[in-house]
Amino acid sequence: MRIRLILLLLGVAYLAGCTTSPTGRSQLILMPDSEMEQMGLQAFTNIKKETPVDSSGTTNRYVQCVANAITREVGGGWEVVVFKDDDANAFALPGRKIGVNTGLLKVAENQDQLATVIGHEVAHVLSQHSNERVSQKFAVEQGLNLINAIASPQTGTGQTLMGLMGVGAQYGILLPYSRTQESEADILGLQLMAKAGFDPRESVQLWINMSKANRGQPPEFLSTHPSDSTRISQLRARIPAALNLQSRARLQGKKPACRR
Ligand SMILES: [Zn+2]
Repeated sequence: MRIRLILLLLGVAYLAGCTTSPTGRSQLILMPDSEMEQMGLQAFTNIKKETPVDSSGTTNRYVQCVANAITREVGGGWEVVVFKDDDANAFALPGRKIGVNTGLLKVAENQDQLATVIGHEVAHVLSQHSNERVSQKFAVEQGLNLINAIASPQTGTGQTLMGLMGVGAQYGILLPYSRTQESEADILGLQLMAKAGFDPRESVQLWINMSKANRGQPPEFLSTHPSDSTRISQLRARIPAALNLQSRARLQGKKPACRR
C-alpha cells in the first residue's frame, strides 16, 4: 500500500516537473511560466536601473530590425533595449525582453552575425533554461518569495537569481549556463536565424570574432562552452540544414535588410 502511494506521488511529481526541451532532452521544470515571466520582467527593470540606455535612432532601428525578424518567428511582441555597455554581450529574458550591449555591435559585424547572437539568446528563453536553473536551485513552493527576492538584486538571493536568469554580471555574479544548455541554444538559435532569412554561415565568423574579442573576460555565451573550436565545428556541421531553412524562408519573402 505504502509503495503504491509512493509510486503515485512519484508519478505526480514526474508529471509536474518533467518537460522535454526543443532538442528532445528531458528537463526538470518546476516554476510556472507566469512566475518566470514576472522574474524576467523584474530582472529587466533591475538592469534598466543600473545601465544607461542608448537611444540613438540609427542604432536602435538596426537592432530592432534584426531582433524583430527573429522574434517574428516565435510570436513577436518582444521589447528590445540597447544598453551603453562595452562588454560584447546580449541577453534575453522570459517575459519577452531582449537587451543588446553597444559593445556587441563592434564584434557582430553585420546583420547576420547580430542575428546569430539574438537567436542564441532567444533560444535560451524558448528552451526554458533559466526555469531549469531556478528549479534545480530552489524548491517550487518558494516561487512567490523568489519574485520578491529578485526585486532586491543587492541581497544574496536576489543576486543569485539574477545570475540564474543569465544576467548577473552587473551584480558581480556570473553563473554560466551548462554546456548542454549552451549547445542547445546554439542549435536552436541557428535554426531560428535561418528561418528568419539570415545567413547561417555568418554564425561561424561571429564566434571567431567573439573569441578574439573576449579573451580574458568571457560573456555568458562563451563561459562554459567546451571550447570555441568545438562550438564552431558543431555549428559547421549544421550549416547545410540551416541553409535549407534559409532558402525556404527567402522563398517566402523573408529577406531581412537591416543596416546601421
Ligand atoms: Zn548562451
